[in-house]
Amino acid sequence: MPFSRSISTISSDIAAWFVVALLLCAVQVASVSAAPVSGDPLPVNPQLRLGKLANGLTYYIQKNGTPAQRAELRLVVNAGSILEDDDQRGAAHLVEHLAFNGSTHFRKQELGAWLQSIGMRSGADLNAFTGFDSTVYVLPVPTDKPENLATGLLILEDWAQGVTMTDQAIEDERKIILEEKRLRYGYVNRMRDATLPALANGSLYKDRLAIGTEASIATNRPDALRRFYRDWYRPDLMAVIVVGDIDPDETERMVRQRFGRLAMPAAPRPRPQVAVPPLGEPQAVVYADPEAPASNLQLLYATYRRAPSATLGDYRNGLVRRLFAQLMGMRIARQPVQRGFSGEGPMPFGTNQRMYSASAAVGPAGVHKAIDVLVGENQRVRQFGFSASELDLAKRSFLGRYEHEYMARDTRASRAVVEDYQRHFLAAEPIPGIDREIEWVRAWVPGVTLDEVNAYARTAIPAEGPRTLIYTTGTAQPAPTGPQLLATVETALAATRRMAVDKAAPTQLAVQKPEPGAIVGQSEDKELGLTRLVLSNGVKVVLKPTPFSKDSVQMSAVRPGGQMLFADADKDALRFAGAVNGAMGFGPHGMADLRRILAGKNIVFGTGMSSYADQVNGSTNSADLETLLQMNYLAMTAPRRDRATFRAFVNTNAELALNRTSTPEARFANARNLAVYGGHPRAELVPRAEDYRGLDMGRSLDLFRSRMDSAKGMTYIFVGDFDVEAIKPLLATWVATLPVADLPLQVRDPGIRQVAGVTRREVRAGTEQKSVVSFDFGSDLAYSKEEALAFQTMIDVLNIRIRAALRDRHQLIYTGSAVGRYARIPRPSYSLSIVLPTAPQHVEKLETVLWEDIVELQGSGPTPAELNKAKQAMLQTYRKSVKENAYWKQRLESAELEGEDPRDILTMEQRLDAVTAAQVQAAARRFLDRERYVEMVLKPEA
Ligand SMILES: [Zn+2]
Repeated sequence: MPFSRSISTISSDIAAWFVVALLLCAVQVASVSAAPVSGDPLPVNPQLRLGKLANGLTYYIQKNGTPAQRAELRLVVNAGSILEDDDQRGAAHLVEHLAFNGSTHFRKQELGAWLQSIGMRSGADLNAFTGFDSTVYVLPVPTDKPENLATGLLILEDWAQGVTMTDQAIEDERKIILEEKRLRYGYVNRMRDATLPALANGSLYKDRLAIGTEASIATNRPDALRRFYRDWYRPDLMAVIVVGDIDPDETERMVRQRFGRLAMPAAPRPRPQVAVPPLGEPQAVVYADPEAPASNLQLLYATYRRAPSATLGDYRNGLVRRLFAQLMGMRIARQPVQRGFSGEGPMPFGTNQRMYSASAAVGPAGVHKAIDVLVGENQRVRQFGFSASELDLAKRSFLGRYEHEYMARDTRASRAVVEDYQRHFLAAEPIPGIDREIEWVRAWVPGVTLDEVNAYARTAIPAEGPRTLIYTTGTAQPAPTGPQLLATVETALAATRRMAVDKAAPTQLAVQKPEPGAIVGQSEDKELGLTRLVLSNGVKVVLKPTPFSKDSVQMSAVRPGGQMLFADADKDALRFAGAVNGAMGFGPHGMADLRRILAGKNIVFGTGMSSYADQVNGSTNSADLETLLQMNYLAMTAPRRDRATFRAFVNTNAELALNRTSTPEARFANARNLAVYGGHPRAELVPRAEDYRGLDMGRSLDLFRSRMDSAKGMTYIFVGDFDVEAIKPLLATWVATLPVADLPLQVRDPGIRQVAGVTRREVRAGTEQKSVVSFDFGSDLAYSKEEALAFQTMIDVLNIRIRAALRDRHQLIYTGSAVGRYARIPRPSYSLSIVLPTAPQHVEKLETVLWEDIVELQGSGPTPAELNKAKQAMLQTYRKSVKENAYWKQRLESAELEGEDPRDILTMEQRLDAVTAAQVQAAARRFLDRERYVEMVLKPEA
């Protein structure tokens, strides 16, 4: 989706701030007492060229074939907002924006224009991130033309020391950044402002959010910005990374020549490391907000700085820590809390700053119970450790992940490889390469003893309990006070805990092998590389073996059907039916059993009903394909019903939905949906707690099973790393034997249509000074393949215009985009939405500018440059996707459900080439219909 993210975002400003510990697995944390294997230093991946120029700049160059004809370029700067002086707040981020707005070799907007001309989309491809401690510029380039790589390196060089920063560019960018900041106004921002000081614990980080303050964005002096750039953008704090389909010799020569020219300042400022002080006396922060979508608890036990592994002995100790992390994760997953976490992880700021923490979403049982569960489980592990069977399971899972990574090593994406080198440069994380790591993991993981892990647990979990407690919640009920919560912590610490009971649990799927069916038909499609089979029960199979991702197979099954086949009265029962069914497990196995059985297998599996289709989805590593098919067999032949599981499902989801509809975003989304579809009962609104509480398990499962107990009419699709002959007996055993009771195989059109005429409505919600303007266009049509492509091209052109006019020329938005759908199911129709977040005072101007541009596009069509940019972007996206399993799976599903001709995949380049400016102009006239649209405007409450 073009423009879904904009040219720059602040990585530290993510909504998941609170649960950052969940996202990043602990890699290197506290020390392990076991004797080190060896003091030998860790080697560097031999496939990598790691070098340092005389001026201090570091470079990483590696040839990597996935994706083909593409290279990932990065400029990594070991400098972020923490280095700002008091008169420079927001400077790191402002400088990052300015890098795209004028430099030695690219005048304002030339850079963006060149990137668009080679098909790179701002946001999706080109991007940059400013954090507390670093700034990263992301630039992928197609390498089919060798000059692209040279130009890409020239851009990196300009970013490194050639940004012009004229006063005018700075003035323009201030307005865009104010709009970027405005986007973030709302609950998450308020919550973060309230909790950041406690996390930063008195350190400068509390005053260095990268976005800066409104005042600093508006009034930062240009010379203060230039001083930041001069002080910190210097060779010894920068790395250039090039990974991709390149010639390493030639690339290294270019990098050495180009970046060797950069100069070090005569008297470089020392680059300070800001430490977070150790936690002191217990403190609690309680933050209540009427728009809080959920209640969350975080317990901070300890913070510390830890050097990354440098020797083989360190690496082995790291394995023990990671096994501990895995074990602790398994323990918390069994507790009666939602989204629970406990363990070691990185802090949201600081280089190699770590913390031991625990967190959970607080469910119906309340915050006191959540504290007892989290503190209690940590106490229990401290006192009694883990069991041998838990450790076996953790090892199995750990080894499974590594074996898969090893098997998949030759098709690892350049984007992922780059990230390893980024972390090496910024935090000295080891980069020995998977070929070495697999040897160590195989040799050492089996030998890690229970005593060793349990001894480590006693040092990792601080005896004195959490020092900082953060509780964020809504205002529907009065929140407990900080002292009350701290008292609960004391009680939980003092409580007597018993050893965890390790229930005997299955390690294998309980499945009886059926008498195999047969393959009764086979045909080949050489052009598309497909094998089509018909099985003895009538089920069809499409096989597409690919070399794109080693050791991974994607599976799906589709047929016409879905929720809309059933009456409106059952809409809630249907809407959550797939989720209810999924929560149950299957056969004799609940979800906890299944997690244990599948440890180390990398299997994902699920069944569901979309509006117009019944679907099965799964993925696995190649060796476990049979296990995936067995799961599919059990899910279809041995459904499970369990009241306790159902009650837990309802409680959890009702709790999570409790405040969701109170957010301005949800109120706007609901109002928009009701306006666009005229209040059609089947148009889905944001789910409410009472929607879950009103569910009837029997009804939901009866409806779901009435479809999913039968495989009649299903087409199974397999894409990925498998052998056609080897999969056949598995299909005969596990798919040809699926029941095929009769059921309707059609799509029902419930008549969800966009209302006729023009509607414009305002929605008042929220207190922050932010607005959203949305336009929805949509209608029925006569389907045409050519028009579908012209429609998509027109949307790309429209997005280029939205950016050029609304952002670059008028600074009315930070980000905003149009997306569209041109479909055949349930009837030929299109929908096109434009969503533009802006300031309340900009709404009218934005409407005027947008319509001017649309009218111009309808009157004159796209310029040749616009048409070329749109086509290049679509072409580059296509060339990348056509070598991805997910793309093939999705296109083959569409072929089954919508009657698309899969041969269209092969003719995409020619068909795209044939799209004319006149067709795009016609599409703009037809689909941006000024007589038929719904405009919604969100404004703050008075
Ligand atoms: Zn930004």
